[in-house]
Amino acid sequence: MVGHHGDVESTLRTAVAERLGEGRFGLWFGEGVRLGVADDALEVGVPNAFFREWIQGHFATNLIEAAEAVTGRTLKLTFRVADEAEPRVGNLIEPKPADERRKHGGTVPLAPEPQTPPQGERERPRNQARPARRLEDFVTGPCNRLAQAAAVEMVQTSGASFNPLVIHAGVGLGKTHLLEGIGHALRSRNPGLKLVQGTAEAFTNGFLDAMRAGNLGSFRSRYRRADALIIDDVHFLAAKRATQDEFLHTFNALIAEGVPIIVAADQHPRRIARLTDELATRFLGGMVVKLDAPSADTRAAILKAKALARGVDVPNAVIAYIAEHLRASVRELEGALHSLIAHAVLTGKRLDLALAKTALRDTIRHTAAAVGLRDVERAVCQLFEVDAETLKSNSRVRALSYPRMMAMYLARKHTGAAYSEIGRHFGGRNHSTVISAEKKVLGWLRDEERSALLAGFETVSDILAALERTLGT
Ligand code: ADP
Ligand code: MG
Repeated sequence: MVGHHGDVESTLRTAVAERLGEGRFGLWFGEGVRLGVADDALEVGVPNAFFREWIQGHFATNLIEAAEAVTGRTLKLTFRVADEAEPRVGNLIEPKPADERRKHGGTVPLAPEPQTPPQGERERPRNQARPARRLEDFVTGPCNRLAQAAAVEMVQTSGASFNPLVIHAGVGLGKTHLLEGIGHALRSRNPGLKLVQGTAEAFTNGFLDAMRAGNLGSFRSRYRRADALIIDDVHFLAAKRATQDEFLHTFNALIAEGVPIIVAADQHPRRIARLTDELATRFLGGMVVKLDAPSADTRAAILKAKALARGVDVPNAVIAYIAEHLRASVRELEGALHSLIAHAVLTGKRLDLALAKTALRDTIRHTAAAVGLRDVERAVCQLFEVDAETLKSNSRVRALSYPRMMAMYLARKHTGAAYSEIGRHFGGRNHSTVISAEKKVLGWLRDEERSALLAGFETVSDILAALERTLGT
């Protein structure tokens, strides 16, 4: 790979961008995707197999043309996949022939949203207070880029590339935002679209009411006449056998007609307890993407975007302060920014670091309760399912040494304990062991190191994020 020949790479990138347009180029050739020339090949470095397949399937000709324009030679296209050893999450389905792509013509009248019963309905009714969130306002970073790209692709192809799209993440990380953005974008592309958009809870209530009232027929047709179906929080269906069966039938009927389906869940479909195998398998038949907690840089970028959207000038030091102290979710970041701005307006004070520290004192103290060495030990042992003695042993097998290094890193980051004290605690090691553990972990984070240590976690930073959630930091 000649990625370090910066000039070749940037010339190539420009040539490719010219052919794809900035939008698509930005989506598929952003950070994490490298271009280089090696012998007679144009080599594309991609983060995972999904990208390879996507780029190969959609942009191969453009890439070869671009390379020809730059080098004057016809190169063959090769890929280097960073996580080739890892199983892939998304399944790519072969695109259907163009005539099957869009079921709806554009002459279909706008159907009313499914009526949701007031009880148990937590979502804001449409046309009130808050306008739908847009895909354009979704700030991307390494934590969510793939999910955002998949959302955009879903809009552009209406399910022809993959169907369904399943977005999963913990709370406050942008699931509903993406779903609303997809709904909004689908509608603006096709105002006549019969879009049915709601929550799994509303689906459940609607189903139960229809059963009670004996008019299942109209309930069914409301969903099954949809041109696009968007259902939020599908984990709500867990353990509701009859509703799941009903949903499965709806799902199958729509998929068979090529109707795009987009759902969000708080877990990977395989990890949602008490979801029937049939439904889990259907969800896995499309593309499954995860939203991770944002990194410090992305947190700062989100805060900047939100401040800008509100027309408030928030100094960088304040952005950095909030991004540093609030890590768990985007919702929490928004909440902090909101209360800070409110504070500034109410007190008439300048919005600066001093004000931020005062205004957010309680929020931050509440989030960052003192963490001790034992808390770190407990969290690590619990997640990796080892006992403390084993964790602290001299074993060098990765299954133990990696968790041990993570424990030391977290201890250093969150407990304020000295290196020597941390070393003593985790098996009588000296301070230089702790320093090198910390370095190692920081390296993993910087390189977005993949990890096969724990099922359900793709990267070291996923694991650390889960541990930090347990620690409440
Ligand atoms: P979830 O449904 O996953 O619990 P939401 O979609 O409701 O989370 O997101 C919580 C809040 O954070 C929303 O106000 C949303 O607009 C905002 N948000 C989440 N991710 C992003 C992002 N990447 N860029 C901008 N805003 C975001
Ligand atoms: Mg949500």
